[in-house]
Amino acid sequence: MNAETAAPAESTFSPARQQQVVSALRALLPAHALLSNIEDTRPYECDGLAAYRQTPMVVALPENEEQVVAILKACRDLKVPIVPRGAGTGLSGGAMPIADGVVLSTAKFTRIVKLDQYARTAVVQPGVRNLAISEAAAAHGLYYAPDPSSQIACTIGGNVAENSGGVHCLKYGLTVHNVLRVRMVTIEGEVVELGNGALDAPGLDLLAVFIGSEGMLGVVTEVTVKLIPKPQAARVIMASFDDVVKSGNAVANVIAAGIIPAGLEMMDRTSSRMVEPFVKAGYDIDAAAILLCESDGTAEEVEEEIGRMSAVLNASGATRIEVSTSEAERLRFWSGRKNAFPAAGRISPDYYCMDGTIPRKNLAQVLLGIEQMENKYGLRCANVFHAGDGNLHPLILFDANVPGEFHRAEEFGAEILELCVAVGGTITGEHGVGIEKINSMCVQFSPLEREAFFNVKRAFDTAFLLNPDKAIPTLQRCAEYGKMHVQRGQLKFAELPRF
Ligand SMILES: Cc1cc2nc3c(=O)[nH]c(=O)nc-3n(C[C@H](O)[C@H](O)[C@H](O)COP(=O)(O)OP(=O)(O)OC[C@H]3O[C@@H](n4cnc5c(N)ncnc54)[C@H](O)[C@@H]3O)c2cc1C
Repeated sequence: MNAETAAPAESTFSPARQQQVVSALRALLPAHALLSNIEDTRPYECDGLAAYRQTPMVVALPENEEQVVAILKACRDLKVPIVPRGAGTGLSGGAMPIADGVVLSTAKFTRIVKLDQYARTAVVQPGVRNLAISEAAAAHGLYYAPDPSSQIACTIGGNVAENSGGVHCLKYGLTVHNVLRVRMVTIEGEVVELGNGALDAPGLDLLAVFIGSEGMLGVVTEVTVKLIPKPQAARVIMASFDDVVKSGNAVANVIAAGIIPAGLEMMDRTSSRMVEPFVKAGYDIDAAAILLCESDGTAEEVEEEIGRMSAVLNASGATRIEVSTSEAERLRFWSGRKNAFPAAGRISPDYYCMDGTIPRKNLAQVLLGIEQMENKYGLRCANVFHAGDGNLHPLILFDANVPGEFHRAEEFGAEILELCVAVGGTITGEHGVGIEKINSMCVQFSPLEREAFFNVKRAFDTAFLLNPDKAIPTLQRCAEYGKMHVQRGQLKFAELPRF
């Protein structure tokens, strides 16, 4: 990573301030739960969006909720910003630290508090890995459905903060549809429970407001998730197409036929050629695009649905169709999709993962638009994504050591997001806004809408100390980005926040 891609952070770090904060936190935490030497804080300098980096002033690793409460109160009193952090797999810079701030890591919150096979729920601490929940539930024939491709590492706290999705979310819903209750601590140090263990909770639905709030409203200390029975059978179809337009239309046709597959993913030729030598999943590397369509249920249901999906895919112009005949083969077909991001590292020194959602009927149009942008920006792009949800993941390939390439990648990404908005979609796919897409928020939302977002934040975090400067752009930022109308040197809505 060269200087061009390093965070431009004007550091407000001062050793005296660090000493003050360390002294205050040392009174609340054991010595091993506090890091402030640069060699200890360096590992926290970025999340999965490694192009932006900033070492934090202090890292706190609390071991229980009382310590979280104490840290938040102390930081509020000292006016220190706090960035909550799970596993740091986020791709939008949500967990990127602030130079004069504290990173609050949930790495020590790894306990599954309770697993109730009769209620089909699990109560877990925020640092529990997504996959660990399903592993624990497997003994009862149950699992937790939302399955981000990072599930081996990412935490449920991070999933709640990002409202994460995954391959199976088309059929089973996103995090917001699979979480019943969140226990969290506000910046005032107040412990609040949103939702409850039952299917409905009295009062306003603040749980839905909180899920996806990117660590800006409170620190999650416990989550109750729904568990569902593991399907008796699952099979996946791998369908090849000689044209991305046909494959995009096939996705819309499957859903229009009244089928909700357990997963419906697309990989273009660049992606399958990138992945195949790495994983040997058996992908058709000559196809312009392949679709992976999964069916799950009883053996009879699966057979019937596989038949119906195959018919729609054939009618949509599939050139080759293979159906998994064993569990090992099903997992092999999926292994390429699940390993697509790491595989990008084999063909390019750096990649920039975009994330936007569009109506399914516009898939082909947007993929063709991205193809034209590849020529415009002189950069390659691999598309591997949750097609059934219309959730795109263009991986823009670049080399940070070539002057100008990172900026071109950023501009390329921003133009893709603008195209998503233009066709009626959204820039807020499943990876959150963080710092990566903050400028694009100016494209999608009006000043009044952004002010409404600030008002929600203010209602939870009056001091604006929890993950500040992420996700919601100020008027100033939008004006600088060129997406805010400035008349005679005056901004409209001059009273709105601009820090
Ligand atoms: C290879 C790869 C594949 C991926 N695939 C997917 C995918 O299929 N679907 C998908 O949705 N995402 C995917 N992601 C993105 C990422 O894994 C998810 O966003 C995940 O939910 C982040 O979890 P984390 O524990 O790593 O959180 P972090 O990255 O540590 O943090 C993410 C955000 O959550 C906040 N946060 C973390 N913990 C808490 C807490 N306890 N309380 C309050 N706020 C908190 C942070 O402040 C930050 O804003 C992928 C990432 C990678 C690297």
